[in-house]
Amino acid sequence: MNFKKSNKLYKKGLKHLVGAVNSPVRAFSSVGGNPLFIKKAKGTKITDVDGNEYVDLVLSYGPMILGHRHKKVQKAVEKALKNGYSFGASTENEIKLAKIVCDAFPEMDKVRFVNSGTEAVLSGIRLARAFTGKDKIIKFSGCYHGHQDALLVAAGSGLATLSLPGSKGVPEGAVKNTLIAEYNNLESVKKHFAEHDDIAGVIIEPIGGNMGVVIPQDNFLKELKDYLETKGALLIADEVMTGFRSKFGGAQELLGVTADITCLGKVIGGGFPVGAYGARNEIMENVAPLGGMYQAGTLSGNPIAMAGGISTLTELKKQNPYEKFEEIGAIIEVILLETAKKYNVDLTVNRFGSMLNPFFTKTKVTNFEEAQTSDTEKFAIFFWEMIKNGVFLPPSQFEAWFLSSALKDKDIKVIADAVEAGMLAVSKM
Ligand SMILES: *Cc1c(COP(=O)(O)O)cnc(C)c1O
Repeated sequence: MNFKKSNKLYKKGLKHLVGAVNSPVRAFSSVGGNPLFIKKAKGTKITDVDGNEYVDLVLSYGPMILGHRHKKVQKAVEKALKNGYSFGASTENEIKLAKIVCDAFPEMDKVRFVNSGTEAVLSGIRLARAFTGKDKIIKFSGCYHGHQDALLVAAGSGLATLSLPGSKGVPEGAVKNTLIAEYNNLESVKKHFAEHDDIAGVIIEPIGGNMGVVIPQDNFLKELKDYLETKGALLIADEVMTGFRSKFGGAQELLGVTADITCLGKVIGGGFPVGAYGARNEIMENVAPLGGMYQAGTLSGNPIAMAGGISTLTELKKQNPYEKFEEIGAIIEVILLETAKKYNVDLTVNRFGSMLNPFFTKTKVTNFEEAQTSDTEKFAIFFWEMIKNGVFLPPSQFEAWFLSSALKDKDIKVIADAVEAGMLAVSKM
């Protein structure tokens, strides 16, 4: 396997692109070497510019839940292209996608489409403040909610990978209303409420996916929601990663918890730029043009993106792959754990349905601090061995791996063989 063309493009890309990437999570800073340049993808496979083919467990960091270029999605998008790219006016497809989304999340009466997860969350936060008339927001350490100023503290994978405590360029004033709590620790939330009476709500990844996969323990989410109700504060579920992925109705359906405001992204656009935030009428009526909270977007509800979202979600609902995800996820988990054991490598695997990842640590990982006990040098060795054996992974210890419904037995075989090579290499360090 050689990476000649990727390396060449990387060097060329450095001239006019920052680090030759348009998102820092695509950089290979923590695993060494240069980022791969991708030429194309189909089904479960992704191919780089040197012609190397990989089973793709990045899946564009989640959106490609059906695998790449599903026939029905491709057809729907091609059809939409023929009618025009953007109108700055409403289209019927926006209503269709809104219905699919509101049907999936029963607490949602209305939804507003935006262009990314970041936009969805920053709007959801603004809405929580508009509705409650309060300013403070609690977030959990290690949870990532996009790159808006107010939430770019203790923000998980991207920053953790680059060993950045927070982002430069975020003024103190922008984070002065952000309070940090510890995941899976309700007391750390209560403490803030004891000290502040102007907390609008709590934002959470209902299943942590941006510090590696971290699962809410016991009844953490339910207890959090019940507690917030007694305080008149809102639960804002950032389901940008988990929406339509944990279950069709997201982590909320799976865990039996309903949030006041839900933020969506990733799968909702099936690979096209779509984000959304939604809530019950009483809350959404605060959004302009019905209410006084302003939020807008030139390309919001873009017709091509709507076609991508509708066709992806329609096919996803039909396939209902959630049991299959559970089975395949469990198989990969066992492969990882048993191979690690065989080679005496300390490993913890966290998994929730179609999101999973190994942590190179013997510590149980239930929060960001524990995630950071992982040996990132071992991960780097493992990562490259996986690449060389045909499995494309996110280049960070702190990112989740994603499964698609297109995965076949032969892909799992490729993964198993690569894991074997990966653990062997780690054991020789
Ligand atoms: C990816 C992600 C975001 C940001 O979405 P973008 O589309 O990258 O802006 C926000 N929250 C969570 C939980 C995410 O996983």
